[in-house]
Amino acid sequence: MIAGHFGFAAAVKAKARATPLWALMLGSQWLDVVFVPLLAAKVEWLEPTAGSKPGDYGAVIIHADYTHSLIGALLLSALFGVLFWRRYGSGPAVVLGLTSLSHWFLDLLFHRADMPIVPGGAGNLPRLGFALWTYPSVAAAIELLLVVVGSATYWRAAAQVAGSDSAAQRRATVCGISIFAAGILTLALNLLGM
Ligand SMILES: [Zn+2]
Repeated sequence: MIAGHFGFAAAVKAKARATPLWALMLGSQWLDVVFVPLLAAKVEWLEPTAGSKPGDYGAVIIHADYTHSLIGALLLSALFGVLFWRRYGSGPAVVLGLTSLSHWFLDLLFHRADMPIVPGGAGNLPRLGFALWTYPSVAAAIELLLVVVGSATYWRAAAQVAGSDSAAQRRATVCGISIFAAGILTLALNLLGM
């Protein structure tokens, strides 16, 4: 899932005006960003579910035992917040850390039970995931909802801040539509297995 996380980040921006949108977008994907080099190094990997083709929407067991373990997500999210502390101050840093952590909780709804609590799946604790991906149309509809609600919430807040300044109103509209379009495009590519 990518689009749903972006939608969530856009909604956060509506409330957290001092936090830069790009950092919120990056934060919402931070666990997946760290996943990429570990995937390349084969420390973490993807396993298509039985009978599926690579790229089928949500048809994957994700062995991201470090980046997507609960403890790993907490540590990576704390690190992400700290990276922004000096430049933006404590408020935005905390918002960014929590936005990064939101990725784990959103993924928890979608993943099959492949998310460990402790990095590396140590201790043989149960793996978590509510497996919405086993109902692809429901999962896609929820992602779409996150994109629509997130970009609309962002747009409304930006328009409110712009007030009677017509140039700022235009910027708010362009930004709101851009976030919506990028979210829809990302979801469409994801559904098409690209
Ligand atoms: Zn993820």
